[in-house]
Amino acid sequence: MQNKKRILVVDDSKVVVSMVKKALFNCSEIHADIVTASSYNQAHSLVQETLFEVAVLDVSLPDAPNGEVIDLLLTQNVPVIVLTGGMNQASKDIILQKDIVEYITKSNPQSLNYIVTSVKRVLHNYDSYVLVVDDSKAIRQQTKKNLERLHVHVIEAESAKEAIDILHNSDYYIPLVITDYEMPEMNGMELTLELRQSYSKDRLSIIALSGNEDKKIATEFIRHGANDFINKTYTYEEFAVRINVNLELVDLFRQGKESASKDFLTGLYNRRFFFESGVPIVQKARRKKMPLAVAMIDIDYFKKINDTYGHDVGDIAIKEVAVILHKYLRTSDLISRFGGEEFCILLEDISLDDLTQKFQTIKEAFEQNSITLKDITLSYTVSIGLFYGTADSLEEMITLSDKALYEAKETGRNRLIIHSNV
Ligand code: GH3
Ligand code: MG
Ligand code: MG
Ligand code: MG
Repeated sequence: MQNKKRILVVDDSKVVVSMVKKALFNCSEIHADIVTASSYNQAHSLVQETLFEVAVLDVSLPDAPNGEVIDLLLTQNVPVIVLTGGMNQASKDIILQKDIVEYITKSNPQSLNYIVTSVKRVLHNYDSYVLVVDDSKAIRQQTKKNLERLHVHVIEAESAKEAIDILHNSDYYIPLVITDYEMPEMNGMELTLELRQSYSKDRLSIIALSGNEDKKIATEFIRHGANDFINKTYTYEEFAVRINVNLELVDLFRQGKESASKDFLTGLYNRRFFFESGVPIVQKARRKKMPLAVAMIDIDYFKKINDTYGHDVGDIAIKEVAVILHKYLRTSDLISRFGGEEFCILLEDISLDDLTQKFQTIKEAFEQNSITLKDITLSYTVSIGLFYGTADSLEEMITLSDKALYEAKETGRNRLIIHSNV
């Protein structure tokens, strides 16, 4: 889980503050505390006590009419989104010279949407990792400095080989690579081509950054699978816009995928998503020679629940599995509903002892659990088959855990059977 972030909203109009607050609050993708102030002084004392991840600021406040509050937040290194009423060109120019994220006119009917989108982007950047590939340390530093103004995390690679290695083995999800063109051994174009073998555009954005003036290079890069090309003579504004657009693109793909990847009844991942995400995890574990665990869970005598109480109550029993699994498993565990009343989980970074203990606890949690509905109290047990170790494929791991599950059923149900090859 990400830490909860803090948003500061400052405007002397109560109406504006409450509208902005409500719009931010209603956005399901923003999980943040929203703190408001109506004057420079109030904002000043809030800033002394609290670190904010982003601020939405009115330019003219009764006690600070000339955008002083913007400088207050900028000196604290807080990304600033500026709200303005009607303003003359001279004041506008002064504000645009400041290092702000966005400048939004209050009179625009779309302004609330712009604010929400902007805030979302900034908050998301705090959790985004960008890989910068360049053989020149000076250029890497320069790019890094510009990226850090956008509050993303920066990872550096000094060669294409190193970049590939980082992407394949990183524990963080890296949605964006910025690569140089000319590098010894493998150039940026070859790197792009190679990366596209494993990472499609909905998973990874690639931006080429080159000092080469040849216009053909840009076209070639796009042909090789890059999303965008930036010339090294870029202005910071151009750079910032392109980085944000490309990060947003991957995010949008991910959001679309996320909703297509969930099981409607339980909200758990579906089978298709389980394979999509599980296969690269198994590949990574094989390269690193790390053991993985697959758990197969099946409700015991589930047909009886359906037959006795009806299908709707059966559904409630199935939903309860998700509640219990969420309670005992980590957010990094890949929990899916495989079909019917069968669930499959893939776990990384766990010892056999911890795994055994965890699933023993889960088995007991089902034993002790009961669901109280209007006139019935329902309880059931589950059988669990576990495989722990290394295998050639996800399918193989599933087959092995399925065998363990079968054994758990055959030997009386409400049992935990573990097979391990390490
Ligand atoms: P066992 O202990 O051997 O697992 O016995 P069981 O009764 O659980 O056996 P089985 O796995 O064959 O039964 C699964 C049943 O689940 C069959 C099917 O009618 C029912 N089922 C499948 N999907 C759903 C669903 O979405 N909702 C409900 N209510 N029932 C479902
Ligand atoms: Mg170079
Ligand atoms: Mg069953
Ligand atoms: Mg079954």
